[in-house]
Amino acid sequence: MNKRKVTIILPAYNEEGSFELLRERMERVLADNPDYEWEFLMVNDGSTDRTLQQMIRLYNSDPEHWHYIDLSRNYGKEAAMLAGFDYSTGDAVIVMDADMQHPVDVIPEMLRNWEEGYDDVYAERKTSRESWFKRKTSQWYYRLLQRSTRVPIQQNTGDFRLLDRSCVSALRRLRETERNTKGLYSWIGYRKKGIEYEQLERQTGKSKWSVMQLLDLAVNGLTSYTVAPLRMATLLGVSVSLIAFLYLIYIIVKTVLYGDPVAGYPTLMVTILFMGGVQLLSLGIIGEYLGKVFMESKGRPVYLVESYDGVRPGDAAVTQ
Ligand code: UDP
Ligand code: MG
Repeated sequence: MNKRKVTIILPAYNEEGSFELLRERMERVLADNPDYEWEFLMVNDGSTDRTLQQMIRLYNSDPEHWHYIDLSRNYGKEAAMLAGFDYSTGDAVIVMDADMQHPVDVIPEMLRNWEEGYDDVYAERKTSRESWFKRKTSQWYYRLLQRSTRVPIQQNTGDFRLLDRSCVSALRRLRETERNTKGLYSWIGYRKKGIEYEQLERQTGKSKWSVMQLLDLAVNGLTSYTVAPLRMATLLGVSVSLIAFLYLIYIIVKTVLYGDPVAGYPTLMVTILFMGGVQLLSLGIIGEYLGKVFMESKGRPVYLVESYDGVRPGDAAVTQ
């Protein structure tokens, strides 16, 4: 019987120090799971260190298993993963961080669930090493997100998961440039199953997320899932107008009954500032969506490939 093939996608940005570990872990995957054929697909996301050289070294050492895609610049992990999906040849793919924070011991369990018929076996972080503040904010964020959409959302999961070819094909059809892959996994549906794992410490280098990028991710996640914030702006506008209208009636009645003592400065100030705030907020929300429309309407490819296994793609196949 033919062995089924599994591709492990490894997006890497400035991870030159991780490759020894990476190689060791992947060799363990090979040794532990001989019932499958394996492909290790590294994606160099425009690294400025010696990541590409390390990839070339691995490819040359075992071109049957190792492959690499070199993107033309740094596009971000989301785009790098899409490149991985596009170039993967396996019947299933597993996405793992190149820094090896994801333990390979979970892979056999993922494969087992896949064999049982699940299409998307996602790994859930069991314990979080993050601070109380970060944990709480992420909890609130997910609650808010879930309230605003009918798409079921999985918390505490990342990109570490096994995806059947059907999911990969589905994801490849979603080619938005402002990508929020986490949302896309939920959006495509299919049979999902969560398994737990313990996230490992980063061995070398440092995490690439800054606070601003996290904020960006949060806003992006919300706006790519739903248009609920726009609805919120509308509701806010309606309720403020209503309150203002009631207040107007109150003032008229008061003036008619008691005359006008002309002492409106503080109320005027508060009202104007409040209204200004509401208007700016609504404009901001509209702006977020407009920005997205602008980015998508250009219809640019999500990433450009400089080479695949050292070969430059032809004109037609720069992206797939
Ligand atoms: N990564 C990438 N492009 C980027 C940033 C990160 O391909 O622009 C890769 C990175 O090399 C790593 C994975 O995405 O393999 C996760 O990144 P990181 O470890 O910085 O994130 P964290 O584990 O802190 O969430
Ligand atoms: Mg990491």
